[in-house]
Amino acid sequence: MPATLVANTPVRSSFELPSALPPRQARVVIVGGGIVGCSMAYHLAKAGWKDVVLIEQGRLSGGTTWHGAGMVGQLRASNSMTQINKYSAWLYPRLQAETGHDVGWVQTRGLTLGTNGERMIQLRRTAAMAEVFGVEAHLVGPREAQELWPLIQVEDVLGAVYLPGDGRVIPGECTVALAKGALLHGAKLFDQISVKQLKSKPSPHGRQDFNRITGVEFQAAIGTRGQIEADYRRELTRVQRCSQRVNGGCPTLIGEFGIPFDLREGRAYRAFAAGDHGPRPWRAHERALGRMYNALDQLLLSAMLWNYTASNRNHLAVGDGWNQEDLSIFSVDQRLDEEDLDSGGRALGGFVRPYARFIQGTLRWMHFDQRKRRFELGFEADPSLPAPTEIFIPRRQFPNGHRLDAPGLVAMDQAVADAQSLRLLAHEKRLFTVRVQG
Ligand SMILES: Cc1cc2nc3c(=O)[nH]c(=O)nc-3n(C[C@H](O)[C@H](O)[C@H](O)COP(=O)(O)OP(=O)(O)OC[C@H]3O[C@@H](n4cnc5c(N)ncnc54)[C@H](O)[C@@H]3O)c2cc1C
Repeated sequence: MPATLVANTPVRSSFELPSALPPRQARVVIVGGGIVGCSMAYHLAKAGWKDVVLIEQGRLSGGTTWHGAGMVGQLRASNSMTQINKYSAWLYPRLQAETGHDVGWVQTRGLTLGTNGERMIQLRRTAAMAEVFGVEAHLVGPREAQELWPLIQVEDVLGAVYLPGDGRVIPGECTVALAKGALLHGAKLFDQISVKQLKSKPSPHGRQDFNRITGVEFQAAIGTRGQIEADYRRELTRVQRCSQRVNGGCPTLIGEFGIPFDLREGRAYRAFAAGDHGPRPWRAHERALGRMYNALDQLLLSAMLWNYTASNRNHLAVGDGWNQEDLSIFSVDQRLDEEDLDSGGRALGGFVRPYARFIQGTLRWMHFDQRKRRFELGFEADPSLPAPTEIFIPRRQFPNGHRLDAPGLVAMDQAVADAQSLRLLAHEKRLFTVRVQG
């Protein structure tokens, strides 16, 4: 029996949507990120529709889809349902090749049983209809049904329809694959945001006309990524404005800024102590740090990292030798591999991020999408400055190398620059954009 047949957990993949708020305008807004919503987003975007937005209040596939058994049975009571399910049985095995995500498809084949005369009439009708739509369906007797699936008792079975093309998916994984496909084709998906109200144009009689929806009102759930980033931005903007008012404006450097490393009652420290020395226990820290740095990048602010854990939850006998505290991001006495510079570090993926070290002019915007491994910035070049723009491209975020797209900029000799840097020279006074794709 294929392993995937029994591993029917709802969603095994950790799939994160980019943290952001939906745009102000869209051509289509789909409310709900179950299998139906994600499928709509996928198909509309694939058909070339622009500005398709999907909004999910919780996590993708967290609604009914989460509970589904995942059977893709092609024998349905109506023509349209039969055609949809026939198409599903065609699409799902192909989705992985397109989106890179395993939907857990197994062509199990299907048997639909009839135990009374009326049911048999209905089965014969639907089987005939299925064949009209090109769905392979065979009427079989009780014994033949049992040969196909020996575990069934057939004493009260009058007959069955056998469908060789039926199969099953893992519903949550299938939803994620459709979501990934939708994103690939340009749709924008957002989770942890609730649609609170549908807005519509009033009808000529002054009543709300819900056949003419013109917009939606939404609200980010408390504590979501979008909201946390927005809160960071709001607070940091206040600090930035303060320094702009002092002495006619001074640069802002945020000091001692970070997240507490004893997140979730120090669960990650306990996992480390129990022998889990990989990056997994620190994923939550990496996500939290990502939200913080995304906000700093949006405001083009620099900050000093300070993540120490006042509760001293790391092993009391270790630490950095100062106040018996570990500095959270690194403990020299918890290095396991002397050859590996990163050994002893924690949540490195959270703060080892690409950024502009030097700009030949004025930085206008900077954005890093960790999930897509894409870093972008825009700057106003001043060619009278003799030094190039220098961008830190850490191997940790781009382990398989990167593709540079920097039209009009001249890449300088990498032998001179450190291997994790890009140096780019501008010869014109204008706006340049740089995109680094992992
Ligand atoms: C036990 C069980 C077994 C099943 N087995 C099968 C099977 O084998 N084969 C099969 O084909 N079907 C099966 N089904 C049916 C199938 O699971 C559902 O038909 C399907 O999942 C419905 O998908 P959906 O996207 O319409 O709904 P949902 O998955 O419920 O998605 C709706 C989404 O909308 C979101 N939402 C709601 N309100 C808002 C709001 N205001 N703002 C933002 N988001 C919002 C919800 O959070 C939810 O995620 C089964 C169902 C159950 C319960």
